[in-house]
Amino acid sequence: MSSNPNTPDAIAVPLRFVIGQGYGDGCLCCPVCGGEYVHIGPVNVAQGQTNAVIENEQITVKPCERGKHFRGSLVQVVFWCECGHEFTYSFQFHKGITSCSLESRSNDRFDSLWRD
Ligand SMILES: [Zn+2]
Repeated sequence: MSSNPNTPDAIAVPLRFVIGQGYGDGCLCCPVCGGEYVHIGPVNVAQGQTNAVIENEQITVKPCERGKHFRGSLVQVVFWCECGHEFTYSFQFHKGITSCSLESRSNDRFDSLWRD
């Protein structure tokens, strides 16, 4: 994953989901500037012993030791807006509760999932 939300330059921001109109359907907007031009970046899924990263039409699966240090799976989706904000929604699942958090950083290096 080229964008690690746990790096020191990432800052936690108040959790919010900003929804815009897009082309008539709802669309996810940047939680920093409200811009509608948001791209999907890398997706990371960490489970007990397996970490999968989907980025640039590639899926990388590696062993991990999350199960030794954390309880429950972690799903992280990185987005970036065309104004230069990168933001990551993280979801952790434990005992039937899915907790959410949001971090942001400035970024001038962008990767996206496949699009047409
Ligand atoms: Zn933005």
